[in-house]
Amino acid sequence: MQELTHYIGGAHVKGTSGRFADVYNPATGEVQAKVPLANGEEMAGAVAIAAEAQVGWAATNPQRRARVLMAFVGLLNRDMDRLAEALSREHGKTIPDAKGDVQRGLEVVEYCIGAPELLKGDYTDAAGLGIDMYSMRQALGVTAGITPFNFPAMIPMWMFAPAIACGNAFILKPSERDPSVPLMLAELLEEAGLPKGIIQVVNGDKEAVDAILQDDVIQSVGFVGSTPIAEYIYATGCANGKRVQCFGGAKNHMIIMPDADMDQAADALVGAGFGAAGERCMAISVAVPVGEETADRLIEALVPKIEKLKVGPYTAGDDVDYGPVVTSAAKANIERLVQTGIDQGANLVVDGRNFNLQGYEDGFFVGPHLFDNVTPDMDIYKYEIFGPVLSTVRAGSYEEALKLAMDHEYGNGTAIFTRDGDAARDFASRVNVGMIGINVPIPVPLAYHTFGGWKKSVFGDLNQHGPDAFKFYTRTKTVTARWPSGIKQGGEFNFKPMD
Ligand code: NAD
Repeated sequence: MQELTHYIGGAHVKGTSGRFADVYNPATGEVQAKVPLANGEEMAGAVAIAAEAQVGWAATNPQRRARVLMAFVGLLNRDMDRLAEALSREHGKTIPDAKGDVQRGLEVVEYCIGAPELLKGDYTDAAGLGIDMYSMRQALGVTAGITPFNFPAMIPMWMFAPAIACGNAFILKPSERDPSVPLMLAELLEEAGLPKGIIQVVNGDKEAVDAILQDDVIQSVGFVGSTPIAEYIYATGCANGKRVQCFGGAKNHMIIMPDADMDQAADALVGAGFGAAGERCMAISVAVPVGEETADRLIEALVPKIEKLKVGPYTAGDDVDYGPVVTSAAKANIERLVQTGIDQGANLVVDGRNFNLQGYEDGFFVGPHLFDNVTPDMDIYKYEIFGPVLSTVRAGSYEEALKLAMDHEYGNGTAIFTRDGDAARDFASRVNVGMIGINVPIPVPLAYHTFGGWKKSVFGDLNQHGPDAFKFYTRTKTVTARWPSGIKQGGEFNFKPMD
């Protein structure tokens, strides 16, 4: 059995806590490795190394820091196949999807190569007589990130690329479900020229997270994962004086207007609802057709497409649509929620229960499910299922559809499918959700925009990546400088307007 490590001080380091978690191959259900779960002492050791290394890194000019990231991009491209294979083996997603995971992280690294431009401060010449004023953005120091299982390459890169570009050291506590790719990314960063101690991977669970939250040296914490944990980390981190941003769960609605191209909408829904087995925070889990006739046409278009989905292991080729879910516990939770949908009166139009894949009976596969006539009081509507289950809520009007999306506690992403620019514009303007797609089902913003939801999908002020990340990972220092002649006139005791 492979024993994974931490990556501390530029080396693979064995766990010393004596605690481990199993890492599964979700396609076969086999335990393929064990990952060490760090204790407070191991975390403190990494923090001390980070604090020492960070001083020199912050003093390295931004262009040189950017060159390390440039080299890192080259290495990610060089090792794309290796990374994707390792990612699929632990996560279960298909190889093309795993490459997308790496690619969407890589694009943020590319954006961060612009650090010299993005870190330029503001300067006011002659703010007063003989007075200049300038602001600079300085690194925070030691920063940390806690990431979810579903994007083990992309989300760590969304955090550590801007953190490092800004001159911070970064401690990554990845998901214990799929820790191999984060370890590989740390190795590649050092191959690219990053000094030892600037990126470290400390594996673990709640104990390691609590050690981060209690550590006085760590200045900021980024978190992506489920909402209850996001709330806990935000509250505890803030109470301990840290800068914190936490991104939580989702229940993303897609509104289908009567004038939508139904084939296009149905295709989009199938990809957005079932891709990556529904284990995406931007997955569409609720379809909201407007009007009974639209709903009937939508269901008619969806059913054959869903029934045709090919579910299988990542090794079965690129025409597999989606793979297993991440753990047997995730599978059991999805099955439990599906049962509540049936019990609470929703109409199960495509029944993915009892899905079986010959040769992979112990894998964590879940067949695709489509529910019709779902209502807002049902558990399958209220809770994030994070599996291949699409719920249809029929709305009588556009206003009713809009209200559904607005009343839901989550506000990560949403989409509208229509040919009517006026309806699309109204929707984008009024809906209280962070990321909006117009005839685009998964509106994940590109690296140079920012990513973030509203409502219970986020805790904190700034979004991920784009310009917000450079704000999150720096603090502003503003200098007011005077080089006057005639300074020997005595002190000034009141704030004065500038002359
Ligand atoms: P999770 O909340 O179970 O775990 C996320 C991280 O928190 C992991 O590193 C885990 O080790 C740690 N953790 C787990 N339990 C903890 C505890 N009790 N105390 C402290 N730390 C703990 O989430 P997950 O299952 O890995 O990921 C799926 C969730 O992430 C979904 O809810 C999904 O919507 C969300 N997600 C959100 C975004 C976004 O940007 N909004 C992106 C991706 C995933």
